[in-house]
Amino acid sequence: MIRVTLAALVTIYLLVFLAAVFLVWLSSEWNRRRRERKAFRFRLRCVICGFEFEDRTDALLPRCPRCGSLNERFKFERI
Ligand SMILES: [Zn+2]
Repeated sequence: MIRVTLAALVTIYLLVFLAAVFLVWLSSEWNRRRRERKAFRFRLRCVICGFEFEDRTDALLPRCPRCGSLNERFKFERI
């Protein structure tokens, strides 16, 4: 049998526990981001007036419904 001290056992236990917590957090974070990406795939923010709108067409330069300016399709980022 492998002899381990109590301190080593506690350290191993803590490391395993922290790794498990980290993995759970990582997977939940990944799921959340994937959900968000899906939800915000068609979201756009007008660069001129800051209006957020949805555009489900595949137009290269969607037009802002508020000010009518053309917007580049960039990755939507939440503040
Ligand atoms: Zn606009």
